[in-house]
Amino acid sequence: MRIDLHTHSDVSDGTETPARVMAAARDGGLDVVALTDHDSTAGWDPAAAAVEGSGLTLVRGMELSARCAGVTVHLLSYLHDRTYQPLADLLGRIKGSRRERARAMVERLAKDYPIEWERVEARAPAGGGTPAGQGGAGEGGERDRGGIAIGRPHIADELVALGVVPDRSAAFTRLLHPRGPYYVRYWSVEAADAVELVRAAGGVPVFAHPGATGRQRIVGDDGIVQMADAGLAGLEVYHRDNPPEQRRRLEALAQRLGLLVTGSSDYHGAGKPNRLGENLTDEATLAAIVEQGVTPLVGGGAWAR
Ligand code: AMP
Ligand code: FE
Ligand code: FE
Ligand code: ZN
Repeated sequence: MRIDLHTHSDVSDGTETPARVMAAARDGGLDVVALTDHDSTAGWDPAAAAVEGSGLTLVRGMELSARCAGVTVHLLSYLHDRTYQPLADLLGRIKGSRRERARAMVERLAKDYPIEWERVEARAPAGGGTPAGQGGAGEGGERDRGGIAIGRPHIADELVALGVVPDRSAAFTRLLHPRGPYYVRYWSVEAADAVELVRAAGGVPVFAHPGATGRQRIVGDDGIVQMADAGLAGLEVYHRDNPPEQRRRLEALAQRLGLLVTGSSDYHGAGKPNRLGENLTDEATLAAIVEQGVTPLVGGGAWAR
């Protein structure tokens, strides 16, 4: 059984439509795939329509932006109820803040490069969200269908189109990294609160790439213990951004805290080198996730219920 529990579509910063990601997963020989766009469930319906009758099974998920002691963290949420309003409100607030932040970063970049906000914004159409600091799903805010989470990858793509950098990775290393002059932070929720909210929505929270040392500071054991106390279900240990010594540390922590261990690709289409199925999750772990989540799997495969 080939199970990959972390992928992105163009609903966030992947380059392919949800239907295309599903087709690639099936063609790539996966049995089960999770769609986990950043801060959005807008891909759930088109992905579900695409797997019906295909033999592929879909796990509907999301990757929530959060922070733990000032460190940006990503929390995967599997099989939650997307009509649960407090979580929908949170997504609206994050997306609103992401939008303001993207705009501020473009303003800084525009002092040095011929970049225009309208063209960046057009890369994330229908990206709703409420202004930062205001809760609630207002006009254009998150309801249960999503809206696109705008991020640095959309700015990167515009910089590539302008010929400023050759590709996304160069945009990140040269211009968009957190210590650079163009970087602006966005509002996000405390990780332990995010874990509680995902559980309250009937979802299964898994800490994404917790040992990704290449990006910035990572969360220490104490932070993971706090998240576990709040109801964390698992750690994404097998991910290309977790180096070997981090995997050993995370495996030991998962054992000690009784957490599930997952492995996934974090596929972004052409937006990143990550290939579908490059890391996998075992069947017993998927069974535990399905057991704990309230939203059913979709598709005609062995895992459909
Ligand atoms: P943001 O959430 O807007 O701060 O942007 C971070 C997102 O950019 C992450 O979700 C990654 O998927 C993506 N990303 C980070 N580094 C790179 C890179 N070097 N090349 C392409 N995408 C990247
Ligand atoms: Fe991403
Ligand atoms: Fe992530
Ligand atoms: Zn991801």
